[in-house]
Amino acid sequence: MNTHKIKFKGDKKGYCNICGKYSQLTRDHIPPQGCVKPTLVELRTLTQHISVSSKNSTDSQSGLNILSICGDCNNNLLGAQYDPELIELSKNVAGMVRIQQELGLSLPEKINLSVKPQKLIRSVIGHILAGKLPITGKPPISAPFPDTLRNYFLDQSSNIPDNLDIYYWIYPSNKQIVINSLAIGSSLGEGFVSGSCLLKFFPLAFWVVWNQPTSFPINLPKIPQNQVKYLDETCEIMIDLRQIPRLDYPEVPGEGRYIMYCDHSTFLAQPKKTKGFG
Ligand SMILES: [Zn+2]
Repeated sequence: MNTHKIKFKGDKKGYCNICGKYSQLTRDHIPPQGCVKPTLVELRTLTQHISVSSKNSTDSQSGLNILSICGDCNNNLLGAQYDPELIELSKNVAGMVRIQQELGLSLPEKINLSVKPQKLIRSVIGHILAGKLPITGKPPISAPFPDTLRNYFLDQSSNIPDNLDIYYWIYPSNKQIVINSLAIGSSLGEGFVSGSCLLKFFPLAFWVVWNQPTSFPINLPKIPQNQVKYLDETCEIMIDLRQIPRLDYPEVPGEGRYIMYCDHSTFLAQPKKTKGFG
């Protein structure tokens, strides 16, 4: 049984999870505060979440926030440049989902929205990279998948890497999930996704998949890769309001699939239910 408390309070100084510089670390809210209002949440790791006894949770007063990136990456890149794109898209989609759910109005099955993908994707990647505690006294581990993410985030002139696919879908749940590294295998001969990362919060889920084998099917829309080059260029993305995967997709594998992950790089935050007094 998993009884350890989840560790989410880190060092005040350390190596930035994104740029790798040693400096004062700043708190990153995941997702950004403009998307979801930070409230009292229960934090769990993916293992604690999947295991039957869900009693082991750790409270955080102000949503999921982690001391993990430097002020430059947090304020000058994410906050000032990339997050506004993610926040605007989230607000627009949240509005549609609420109209549909609360007022019962039927919207078209699919809606096209204009986004700046180069900013949107960097915002998603930035918060995923920020979504784990830095290793004390050590710069972030260099490996092909995280290096691809970091380099793309930091080099504003770079194109969306060809070997990254960014899937997205409507996620009508108040449970927030960030997973830094998720590998998915198949016993059905579909191949193996050795690198992927995930960010889910109301109303959207984003799944960044690295080197996806053609044999491995993911039947979801993805952000167009080759239509834009510059940071402020826009393109249309299609939001499918009807075809919604199950809420625990893909972190809880379906039949014929299995997952591998580092439990300490997974965070699930769920608004805490008020228990009343006494
Ligand atoms: Zn940094």
